[in-house]
Amino acid sequence: MRRFFIEEMTETTGTARITGAEFTHLKKVLRLSVGADVVLFNGRGLVTQAVIVEMGDNFAEVRITGPCPQTRESPVEITLLQAFVKGDKPEFIIQKATELGASAISFYTTERTVPLAPNPKREARWRKISIGAAKQCRRGVLPRISVAGSLAKVLAEWESRGALKLALWEGVSEAGTIKEALRSGSGAEGVVVLVGPEGGFSKDEVDAAARAGFRIVGLGPRILRAETAAVAALALMQYELGDLN
Ligand code: SAH
Repeated sequence: MRRFFIEEMTETTGTARITGAEFTHLKKVLRLSVGADVVLFNGRGLVTQAVIVEMGDNFAEVRITGPCPQTRESPVEITLLQAFVKGDKPEFIIQKATELGASAISFYTTERTVPLAPNPKREARWRKISIGAAKQCRRGVLPRISVAGSLAKVLAEWESRGALKLALWEGVSEAGTIKEALRSGSGAEGVVVLVGPEGGFSKDEVDAAARAGFRIVGLGPRILRAETAAVAALALMQYELGDLN
């Protein structure tokens, strides 16, 4: 059944309106009309069933028929801290991280990344990507996406937090460290993974992450692209601690 995002929806009864890009998609692409059953979600966990009762020029009115109780949310809170990467890679990462159940995705800068200024247009685009991915994988909660500033700032924020904290570094020589690290984290209130930039972390940055309580782990003998490393790490986290098993 087709899913539509209505941020303002707060009830499992009554009526609601599908507007904007969601309405355009409903009408022009899916060609739905009065009587069609749909699923609505507000991105904060409320998912409902509804039926289209009226088609306006720029809205579809729906009657909400009840909650959709099925939850596909990750049992473990997973945060992806990703060094900013160029081009459309952030979008790829947002799409895949949403599918893999990440609760939050934060981009930060390092010695080897370009500065990252806030950009409302880009952030709106990122949100749209996560909405599309949430529809596709049927999640009811959108990940929080943010621009976090420098690595130093990110490390300072996480230093006192109790989550299982991992930093991916290709310089780790022992095999199996990520497996051990994840297994040692069962029961942790959350898990966070720090992924570096295309040019890699400097040794100073790796040391700073370790001082902030991040366990430095490898992802095997091959050097992965940053976006591959992010996706692989999320899948492993879900496998060991979450619901992918
Ligand atoms: N430019 C570096 C590689 C950077 S890979 C080089 O060519 O040597 C980008 C990021 O992905 C890294 O900062 C790291 O966080 C992660 N990564 C990639 N491969 C990895 C591996 N085998 N083990 C751990 N982390 C890895």
